[in-house]
Amino acid sequence: MTSEECRQMFLAVAEKMVNSEAMLTEIDEKIGDGDHGIGMAFGFRNVKKELEELEAVSVEAVFKTVGMTLLDTMGGASGVLFGTIFISGISEREPHQEIIVGDFADIFRKSLDVLKKRGKAKPGDKTMVDAFEPAVISLEESAENKETMKQALNRAALAARNGAEDTKKYRARFGRAKYFGDNAIGYQDAGATSIWIIFQEMSDWVNA
Ligand code: ADP
Ligand code: MG
Ligand code: MG
Repeated sequence: MTSEECRQMFLAVAEKMVNSEAMLTEIDEKIGDGDHGIGMAFGFRNVKKELEELEAVSVEAVFKTVGMTLLDTMGGASGVLFGTIFISGISEREPHQEIIVGDFADIFRKSLDVLKKRGKAKPGDKTMVDAFEPAVISLEESAENKETMKQALNRAALAARNGAEDTKKYRARFGRAKYFGDNAIGYQDAGATSIWIIFQEMSDWVNA
């Protein structure tokens, strides 16, 4: 995938997140404070603007633009965490004009490690980690098995989706959902749902 295609793909992701505002708000209302959709839509509306204006495109510039914009404009704990997902993995990379499956695996693996260190959440704590970690593991397996970009992103989206759905079974150990105790069981985590939507749109984009 070229850096320009990568920019186009994340433009589609940004648009999808903006259009998912109502759905994410509804999810965060159940066991949170109902602002997740608003925060994501606001952040990704700005991402769309920045990506549209981005010149001198490299894969790393695309990731950096997405991450820094989320970090700067989303605010709150989850803005930092979603920023981390896009920034941490590319911070030490030279600019590339192309991205392959193994690069997605490496970049997101590094981001996941930083996310877990910063946020302290482990799998099963009912956070975005529950969707992100399976997606990263799936990308690593795809790289190992030399799968195509389509195969890899399709599988990663499915892994993120299953991970997000599994959060229904868990009690929350972070965020406002923690105070719901057992009453959070049965409800899907908002941040994990956003991760799934991001990977789903990446997959949909390469299949279109
Ligand atoms: P807030 O909880 O401040 O209202 P949002 O509603 O935007 O922020 O985001 C909530 C989401 O953030 C949760 O659904 C969860 O996935 C994620 N989250 C919260 N705390 C953590 C953490 N420590 N590590 C990873 N993800 C977290
Ligand atoms: Mg809030
Ligand atoms: Mg919230």
